[in-house]
Amino acid sequence: MKLEHIGIAVKSIEDKLKIWRDILGLKRHIIQEVPDQKVRIAVLEMGDIHIELIEPTDTHSNVHKFIEKRGEGLHHLCFEVEDIEAILSNMKKNGIKLIDEVPRKGAYAEKIAFIHPKDMGGVLIELCER
Ligand code: ZN
Repeated sequence: MKLEHIGIAVKSIEDKLKIWRDILGLKRHIIQEVPDQKVRIAVLEMGDIHIELIEPTDTHSNVHKFIEKRGEGLHHLCFEVEDIEAILSNMKKNGIKLIDEVPRKGAYAEKIAFIHPKDMGGVLIELCER
C-alpha cells in the first residue's frame, strides 16, 4: 500500500496552477473532466506521487458542497493497493463506514473506492488499483 495522490479541493484550477506549476515548478500535468463527480481535475507529478487539484464544475458537486462548508483544502488521500476488493471486504467486516462497497472506474485507475472519513480520522480516503 502506498500513497498515490493527495486531492486538494480548489475553487479554480487555473488560479492554483499559477502556484503549483508556475511558482513551485511542477511541470507535468494533465487536466480532465470527471463528469460523474461533476469536477475537473488537474493532476501534477511530484516525485512518486501526484497532487490532484479538484475543481467543482457544478453546484451539485460534492466538492462544491465541501468548499462551501469548509473552504478550500485537503479533500482526500489516495492509497494504491494490490487487491481493492479484499481490502474493502475486510474493512466492511470490521464495521468501517464505506462510501463505495464495490469499486468503480476512476479517472485514471481501473478501480477506485472511497472510504468515509468518519472512521479514518476525519480524512476521506480513496483506494485505487491499477
Ligand atoms: Zn483522487
